[in-house]
Amino acid sequence: MKDYLIIGAGLSGLSTAWYLRKAGFSVQVLEAQSHVGGRIQTVNEGDWQVDIGANSCLLSSEPVEQLIDALELRDEVVVANSVSHNRFVVRGDRLWALPTSLSALIKTPIVSPLSKLALLAEPFKGSAKAEESIASFVARRLGAEWRDWVLDPFVSGIFAGNPEKISVQAAFHKLWLMEKDHGSLFKGMLARVKARKKDRAAGKFVASNNMISFKRGMGTLNVALAQKMTEDIRCDAQVERLVIKDGLWQAQTVAGEMFAAKKVVVTLDAPDAARLFADLSPEASKLLQQIMSPPLAVVALGFEREQVAHPLNGFGVLIPRSLGIQTLGAIFSSTIFPNRAPEDKVLLSCFIGGSRNPIVARWSEQDLINQVVKDLTPLLGIQGQPVFSRVKVWPHAIAQYHIGHLEQVTKIRQALLRDCPNLATRANWHEGISVPDVVANSERFARQEQIISRVTL
Ligand SMILES: Cc1cc2nc3c(=O)[nH]c(=O)nc-3n(C[C@H](O)[C@H](O)[C@H](O)COP(=O)(O)OP(=O)(O)OC[C@H]3O[C@@H](n4cnc5c(N)ncnc54)[C@H](O)[C@@H]3O)c2cc1C
Repeated sequence: MKDYLIIGAGLSGLSTAWYLRKAGFSVQVLEAQSHVGGRIQTVNEGDWQVDIGANSCLLSSEPVEQLIDALELRDEVVVANSVSHNRFVVRGDRLWALPTSLSALIKTPIVSPLSKLALLAEPFKGSAKAEESIASFVARRLGAEWRDWVLDPFVSGIFAGNPEKISVQAAFHKLWLMEKDHGSLFKGMLARVKARKKDRAAGKFVASNNMISFKRGMGTLNVALAQKMTEDIRCDAQVERLVIKDGLWQAQTVAGEMFAAKKVVVTLDAPDAARLFADLSPEASKLLQQIMSPPLAVVALGFEREQVAHPLNGFGVLIPRSLGIQTLGAIFSSTIFPNRAPEDKVLLSCFIGGSRNPIVARWSEQDLINQVVKDLTPLLGIQGQPVFSRVKVWPHAIAQYHIGHLEQVTKIRQALLRDCPNLATRANWHEGISVPDVVANSERFARQEQIISRVTL
């Protein structure tokens, strides 16, 4: 009898299994697809290498660094090209790099001189009285132009979401803490720099915040995790029913197989988890259905180098919604990491859809390619059609942490605690969507389970 059933073999499921095994527990992972990895997938076609889900990982937590070492992946790591600090946004009909120094800030045409001057007043602005959206937070602290020309495309790029609805407290917790603890973003940033210095001097872990991937793409992480646990992972095993019988959890797959364990961890996205909990906990299921995860298409386009006039000397470009352009942005994949495109060619990973344009989920692949090429042609100076393309539509790409999200997650947890003993959830709809967040949460969960098991022995 296994200690844990883990439903789903995306990064949440795989890393939870990895840490639970390390803590001395036995696990059985069940995955619906014929392959592991979920939203992290690298596809190879000839000399093109495309990440059709997550494209990079920020080294922002200790567990993710430790996991890379434990999986012996250090030699596989590639750090983003140094020009990646250039992040472009569109204003007017051209690309401008976001300022990263004071002199660049003074010169940037992205916002008006008045909005630049307004930054001086930031440390003296009051704090919010209630939970608010990231749009209202930025407009209140920095001004409306920063919201419209910097924040808006940034939120579209990360969350494929609507900044007027996304909660600053839930989705941008570090920014929210800066205001709460220091009364200002500038003071908060200074305090962070000081704290990092102090930690470094004391020999504590300090995150490098380097942007990385792997020579063979982000999928390397799934493959390495899966290879260490082959005997514990079952693919093509979609769980359609979970029941608790005589104090044990039983998972029934669509093919009719049964698996049992003492505890279960559900690592599915909100829509899939809602379906699985429909009979077990109707209240949790209903609340999960309310967490929006809009569709998003990743459109990877390859061109001959000379087809693109722009030097592509940055991480990518984000496009403010007010311009009425459908494409949300493009990552300059072959600039950031090596081995993404054949010699003398470039690879762009473009995004279209999201919460303000969910209709794209119903478009054909060719329509998606045509729209993205049409949108980017004048911005990047593209000539002709792509020589390579690959499209992936994620029907429920990224969970949206809207205002009220934290309260909703608490209610879901309470309902599950009441209706489903010995069941836990680890998923991207709570505690962070990014790769380092997912890994850190899995590590913390296994540590807590180890403590609980010692106490109850
Ligand atoms: C397009 C895109 C780009 C992204 N880019 C980045 C990035 O650059 N950097 C970053 O840090 N993060 C990025 N993210 C976020 C990050 O990839 C995800 O948050 C993370 O991979 C989620 O992992 P997960 O295991 O929680 O979910 P998933 O990867 O969705 O895993 C859930 C798994 O459960 C399986 N499943 C579903 N139903 C069942 C069932 N009934 N029975 C068994 N199995 C089931 C699914 O097949 C899937 O494999 C991106 C996400 C998307 C969609």
